[in-house]
Amino acid sequence: MRVLLLSDIHSNLEALEACLAAAPAYDLVVNLGDIVGYGASPNEVIERSRGLGKFFVRGNHDKAVCGLIDIKDFNPAAALASSWTRAQLTTENLEWLRALPQGPVQIAGLPGAQFVHGSPVDEDEYVVTAGDAVAPLIVAPTMVTFFGHTHLQGSFILNGDHVDAIHPAYRTVGQVESSEFPLKNNLPYLVNPGSVGQPRDGDWRAGFAVFDSDARIVAFYRVPYNLKSAQDRILATDLPQRLATRLAAGR
Ligand code: ZN
Repeated sequence: MRVLLLSDIHSNLEALEACLAAAPAYDLVVNLGDIVGYGASPNEVIERSRGLGKFFVRGNHDKAVCGLIDIKDFNPAAALASSWTRAQLTTENLEWLRALPQGPVQIAGLPGAQFVHGSPVDEDEYVVTAGDAVAPLIVAPTMVTFFGHTHLQGSFILNGDHVDAIHPAYRTVGQVESSEFPLKNNLPYLVNPGSVGQPRDGDWRAGFAVFDSDARIVAFYRVPYNLKSAQDRILATDLPQRLATRLAAGR
């Protein structure tokens, strides 16, 4: 089965459409959360995402927008974006967001894979470093865990007594590129497809991945999108301007 993995779209419709246009053939879509927050197209992104299938995990921004968690721990820009998003959403989309499942989620036909927003230990935990990855890898010793939340594309592997971190290497800064990463049998992996709508690894291009569960290969992708349109939509609202400028830097 070929699984299209989308995470951290953050209301960036232009980035989502570019990913869908660049994606190879797939059998199903799994969305790892943070569908909304930061960007200017929350209803459009929810409706487009809902049309892609039924497999979702909720993110912290999804929870904050529908009032499931307090925004007091958010930075000021994130808190403002959360309140703004809530005011934009249709009642139906707000209710749909509130009903999203907490990870880990497993899917029939995909044994050995699970899907979370932050980590299998804690849905809101950030797995950034190899050290952060140790506990979640030990908790799921035979699993490939797909996660998001950090907006950093790559993978962690528990190999004996140490954790290796892998980040795909790309050759350009503005073209569609992909990087294949074969998974060994019987080793636990954490795999982050990257952020569709707000990458933070210095590469402005939208990130996603496709997992071929039969071949056990993850293909990471980066795709350019209509950055100016996404920025202009933000600048036309009351959202903080920095949410537009940061998209160009991939931070
Ligand atoms: Zn996020």
